[in-house]
Amino acid sequence: MKYTTKTTIKLAILFSTAIVGLGYWFTHGATLLEFLLYFVLLSFVSRIANAGYHRWLTHNQFEPTWLGRKIMLYFMVLTGEAPPGHYVIAHLNHHKYTDEEGDPHGPKQIGFWNLALGRYGETKPAFMRTYARHKDAQWVTEHYWRLYLANWILFALIDPYLNIWLACLFSWSWLQMINLNWRGHGGLQGTPTNLGRISNLFMGGENYHKNHHDNPGELVMGKWDTTGKYLVPWLLQKKV
Ligand SMILES: [Zn+2]
Ligand SMILES: [Zn+2]
Repeated sequence: MKYTTKTTIKLAILFSTAIVGLGYWFTHGATLLEFLLYFVLLSFVSRIANAGYHRWLTHNQFEPTWLGRKIMLYFMVLTGEAPPGHYVIAHLNHHKYTDEEGDPHGPKQIGFWNLALGRYGETKPAFMRTYARHKDAQWVTEHYWRLYLANWILFALIDPYLNIWLACLFSWSWLQMINLNWRGHGGLQGTPTNLGRISNLFMGGENYHKNHHDNPGELVMGKWDTTGKYLVPWLLQKKV
C-alpha cells in the first residue's frame, strides 16, 4: 500500500476517534474547564513537537540540551504526525522548490484536498544536515510507528480517555499543518504569506510564514513569536 494511502487511513481513524471521543467525553460529564485544561496541555505538546520537527531538525535554528532533545522526540511520537526523517526531507524540498514543480505540498502543485489528506508529492533526496548528526532522531524515525503503537497501548492501560486526548492531539496538529501550508501559502495563489493574530494565538510564531521563508535559519520569526522568544530558550535550548 502506498505511504500516502496509509496516511489518509490514519487521518480517517484518528479524526473519527477524536470527534466520537469528544462527544462521548462531554456526554459523560466533562466540564468546559476540564476541556480547556486538556486543550492547553495538548497545544503545548503540539508546539514543542513542532519546534522539534521544524525549528530543530529541519532548520537547525537552535542547539537543544540532551533533555530538550528527548522531550521533543517523545512529543513527536505522541502527535503521530510523521517520523522525524520524513518530515525533514519533505520540508527541505518545500524550501528548495517553494511553490514550484518539486514542492511536495505547494497548494498550487497538489491542491487543497491532497494537502488536507496528506497526499503529498514525491520528494527528491536532500542532505539532512542536522538530522544526520543525531542518532536518536534517526532511531525514532526507524521505530516511529512501533513507538506510537506502544504508547497508544500504554495510555489505554492507564486510562482510555488518554487515547481520546491522543487522537485530539494528532487532529489539532494536523489542522495547524493544513492552515500553515494552505493559508500560509496564500491558497491557490501559492506564495509565502504571514498569517494574522488568531493563527498566532495557536501557532506561537509559526504563523510568520513569509518571514520564515525569507530567513529559514532565524529562530525568532516575528514580534510575537512566543515559541522562538520564550519556549525554546526557556525549555529546550542549550545555554551559551
Ligand atoms: Zn512554506
Ligand atoms: Zn521551514
